[in-house]
Amino acid sequence: MDCLFCKIASGEIPSNKIYEDDRVLAFYDIDPQAPVHFLVIPKVHIKCADEIDESNADIVAHVYTVIAKIAARLGLSKGYRIVNNCGEDGGQTVGHLHFHVLAGRNLSWPPG
Ligand code: 5GP
Ligand code: ZN
Repeated sequence: MDCLFCKIASGEIPSNKIYEDDRVLAFYDIDPQAPVHFLVIPKVHIKCADEIDESNADIVAHVYTVIAKIAARLGLSKGYRIVNNCGEDGGQTVGHLHFHVLAGRNLSWPPG
């Protein structure tokens, strides 16, 4: 399967890694939209939120625990936003489940 984030997860394509374990990888976004902008992905290929069910939902909880640890490590005490785009209208451009973490500036709401 030709998937960019599978290739990043396997190390075939390099990334600026922040955190890695056997199930997830966190790395800085190549086109940051905030002073801090990183992505957390499951290593297993899941297309988007549509494909979360009882068999794989535990990875989402794990992603959130990893985000909390990274936020503490990076000192994001003023807060941050977690974004998960799904599908065309959601603005998803890479078809492998990923969670954006944006921080370091006041983020507008609602998003455009
Ligand atoms: P989406 O638009 O699918 O929610 O987010 C995909 C994100 O992946 C974008 O923010 C984009 O900048 C980032 N991205 C795309 N290609 C690469 C890459 O090769 N390396 C890294 N680190 N980020 C990428
Ligand atoms: Zn993939």
